[in-house]
Amino acid sequence: MDKQEKRRKRWSLEDVRQYLTEHGIRASIYRLKIFEYLINERSHPTAEEIYNRLKREMPALSPATVYNTLRLFLEKKIIQLVNVEKNEGRYDATLSWHGHLKCLACGRVFDVHIETLKLGGLEGFEIFEKHLDLKGLCPECLKTKKYHKEG
Ligand SMILES: [Zn+2]
Ligand SMILES: [Zn+2]
Repeated sequence: MDKQEKRRKRWSLEDVRQYLTEHGIRASIYRLKIFEYLINERSHPTAEEIYNRLKREMPALSPATVYNTLRLFLEKKIIQLVNVEKNEGRYDATLSWHGHLKCLACGRVFDVHIETLKLGGLEGFEIFEKHLDLKGLCPECLKTKKYHKEG
């Protein structure tokens, strides 16, 4: 965790309520809890991970509610889909321009801060989306050597 990350404060449910209201979203308890989880954990969870985690404290939560809430958040552009892996949808409430690194051993997805990035050959193009996706090993897995490169 770098300095910038440590300084980030955790969002209270009240912070989340205000944020959702500002974006024209009625703040039901499920919506509050799902957004709070995304913004505070920053672990880029899948819908299934969100469901499994929040179900513990809210047994009446259904997978459909999680999916519908995520779809609403995407529509309102307060979260984004992370594209590191084509076959799994991961969600991110951090919207500023940053990249992602997927650890090939533990499967976690980390934020990558981008300070300078020079791209060439784009004269005459118009860019609508930009993604920076990296794959590698996190320091923890490197230390424990959990991963053995095949081949
Ligand atoms: Zn790892
Ligand atoms: Zn991210």
